[in-house]
Amino acid sequence: MSGDNLPSRTLRFIDVAGEIPPEAREQLLALVRRLPDGHPFELLVQVVATVPGRRFRDQAVASRREHSVNPDRSVMLVVSRDDRHVELATAPCWASRFSEAESHALLASHFVPAMKAGDLPRALGATIQAIAAKLDEPVGRSARSPAVAVGIGVGLAVLLGVCGVLFAFVRNHTCRDCRGWGDYSERELIAATSTSEGRGEVHFHCGKCGADYTEIRSIPVRSSSSDNSGSSSDSGSDSSSDGGGGADW
Ligand SMILES: [Zn+2]
Repeated sequence: MSGDNLPSRTLRFIDVAGEIPPEAREQLLALVRRLPDGHPFELLVQVVATVPGRRFRDQAVASRREHSVNPDRSVMLVVSRDDRHVELATAPCWASRFSEAESHALLASHFVPAMKAGDLPRALGATIQAIAAKLDEPVGRSARSPAVAVGIGVGLAVLLGVCGVLFAFVRNHTCRDCRGWGDYSERELIAATSTSEGRGEVHFHCGKCGADYTEIRSIPVRSSSSDNSGSSSDSGSDSSSDGGGGADW
């Protein structure tokens, strides 16, 4: 489905020598192979002695970038042994599933209990299964997807825009003298720019009382935001776009 040649689900260990015995590593690799088919992912587990300044988030994000074969599909788990902290960083596409609060909750319930008992392999096994399950949750159950939220927002904006246009249409065609319905037309005399107002002429003729008037109206300065709408939503991949969070044990 992803079009690359990676196995659908991989687990790799970084700097775990002395922290996770080889046989425990084999068991964890076997656990990943036994997971039901689902979302492809690359899971990375790194064990460090300590993170300078307890900058766990920065460290996990940087490490994920550095060690991922497939950065768009990877999840990094950094276990900081002496700090008694575990930090998760995910590809930006999973940021909505792995919010800071949800990541913390996942680690607190799956990693921390076994870790309090000093059993790192068991903590990792439970956490790996929880991460895989979370990746397979239908979108919208854990958190509303950004696409759905954007869709709702656009829908509301269109609805409000339609209401606004309708309101203006009714107002323009309503006679100010007798409230009757009349003909309304407008034409642009001088176009507005982003720095100066324009001018327009409006003409109204009431079909009920016969009122007839022509007026000059100013046309508001064109806002610069409407000139370049859409260009500000550049979703880059800086560190703040990664999903993830952490927990102490
Ligand atoms: Zn009238």
